Amino acid sequence: MRKIEWSKLGFGFSDVNCHIRYTWKNGKWSKPSYVKDPYITMHIGASCLHYGQECFEGIKCFRQQNGKIVIFRPEENAKRMYRTAERTCMPPVPVEMFLDACTKIVKKNKEYVPPFGTGGSMYLRPLLIGTGPQIGVAPAKEYTFMIMVMPVGAYYKGGLKPVRAVIFDQWDRAAPHGMGDVKVGGNYAAGIYAHEKAKHEGWPVELYLDAKTHKYIEEFATSNFAGISKSGAYVTPDSCSVLPSITNMSLKQVAEDLGIKVECRPIPYTEVKKFKAVAALGTAVVITPVWEITRGKDVIKISDPETVHPTLQKLYDTVQGIQYGTLPDTHNWCYEVR
Ligand SMILES: *Cc1c(COP(=O)(O)O)cnc(C)c1O
Repeated sequence: MRKIEWSKLGFGFSDVNCHIRYTWKNGKWSKPSYVKDPYITMHIGASCLHYGQECFEGIKCFRQQNGKIVIFRPEENAKRMYRTAERTCMPPVPVEMFLDACTKIVKKNKEYVPPFGTGGSMYLRPLLIGTGPQIGVAPAKEYTFMIMVMPVGAYYKGGLKPVRAVIFDQWDRAAPHGMGDVKVGGNYAAGIYAHEKAKHEGWPVELYLDAKTHKYIEEFATSNFAGISKSGAYVTPDSCSVLPSITNMSLKQVAEDLGIKVECRPIPYTEVKKFKAVAALGTAVVITPVWEITRGKDVIKISDPETVHPTLQKLYDTVQGIQYGTLPDTHNWCYEVR
């Protein structure tokens, strides 16, 4: 194994032992194979290359305090990928096969799951792509399902760090009844231009309004939105064009467990200035507090740049505690790899 300085790991690709791969041909999935080479060969006419017939997932795996290796809620990712596959006319990966693939690939790369206490984890990236040639627009006849894994470092090395966000009214990410609610690469293609512009102008994250009226909050480019209202409730948008985040789903449950009221409803943009805290939610970072939101000349200051709202801190600590096995896993979210 390569020597890794766990404390210096960031969030990026790194070489491991292998990835796992299955192919779908003649109506069925193959047996898995373990592939060392990170390059893949496919037909130049593959449907994923021309028509974006592809989807992916993001999952984290943790080495817990007691030494167990667990994957966080992979069944939810399996179900989400199943729905995405159906929406994009790809053969869905059965939930059982998906879970088995996660277990197998983590076992093959066990030594790359960062030690407990380093704040690191292993990131799993399942990928389902159309690899059969398809020049007329139609579903391909061959598909590949893969999972790549990589060790990643603690995102926050010294506690939660609030960021600034921007809203660009000139670009939308997902239309009502489009593909916003499924995890396809095309949603990222739709946002990468705005993302680069935001980054170069000093905003780490972009927030999207609903594409039809630009009156309601949808989500950040790659993460869900939640606010803490004046009365202390956890408020998150209810919209058919928002990706159902598993982090958000977990935080809603944790909030309820902690006695915090959860409101899932349309959030008018005009309400945001009343929030006590705002956060971006996703697997990679869990919670990113947002202290300021800029929309043209309108700048909403939610908090000062250094302060993390205690509710956000509590939610973050609870989810991380469950993931690392320092708090009881009352909902059976940790899927043990053995
Ligand atoms: C993946 C993703 C999220 C976060 O989902 P998690 O399951 O919490 O990682 C949020 N929004 C978009 C657009 C995404 O693609």
